[in-house]
Amino acid sequence: MAIVLKSREELKKMRTAGRLVHKVLQRCREICKPGVTTRQIDKEAYEVFAAAGAKGLFKNYPTYRLGEGFPANLCISINEEVVHGIAGDRVIKDGDIVSVDCGVKLNGWCGDSATTIMVGKVDPKTRQLCEATEGILKLAIENIRPGRQWSQVARLMEKKADSLGYGVVRDFVGHGIGQSLHEDPKVPNYVSRELVDNDIELREGLVLAIEPMCNLGSDRVRTLADGWTVVTIDRKPSAHYEHTVAVTATGAEVLTDGN
Ligand code: MG
Ligand code: MG
Repeated sequence: MAIVLKSREELKKMRTAGRLVHKVLQRCREICKPGVTTRQIDKEAYEVFAAAGAKGLFKNYPTYRLGEGFPANLCISINEEVVHGIAGDRVIKDGDIVSVDCGVKLNGWCGDSATTIMVGKVDPKTRQLCEATEGILKLAIENIRPGRQWSQVARLMEKKADSLGYGVVRDFVGHGIGQSLHEDPKVPNYVSRELVDNDIELREGLVLAIEPMCNLGSDRVRTLADGWTVVTIDRKPSAHYEHTVAVTATGAEVLTDGN
């Protein structure tokens, strides 16, 4: 699949989808309190999608391993869970960090964003991990310029995480986004031989879902027996922040910031 650049008109439509994603995450932030189950959060998100006439993009997302699609509306990943956690009976506790990832399609265009919610009194090291990971996303966005290569941005992200001693997850990466949730190119949060050999030139109209995942310990992860939930190998906490970002003539524009 080739990279598809988006017009100003298309970006407007993507912003409308992005605004809805932002609204869902805001709602999740409001209700994500000790005693609430992840299923309650997931149900609330579904109601926001339905009221807007949007389609949640994660429900029934196909897997090639178990032959069944993803069973929930959001990905909700707690503490050592990195991504793709499944909503259920798990009760949120004071001190948890709850990563909520939301993707929607509205009028044919997609938005994808994630945030890690700190619930109550979070351990200072874990809080720093969350704040730094959000900062790494911001660093990436601030350094996007047409004409630069993505590896230049990814290098800044990786260096920042390294300097703080965090593991940058390598098994999962960001992605292009538009009329489909996952489009080309792959957008890693680190520099690899593969990226350098197939670097991504940042051009006006390129839209990327940028999503750093940082671990307090090892960068290594594994998938649980449910076929979806990804956890850190050492069970230390992990944070995940994501925005859908368009490259403009002068820099970047965040489509999932609620504006
Ligand atoms: Mg996402
Ligand atoms: Mg994504």
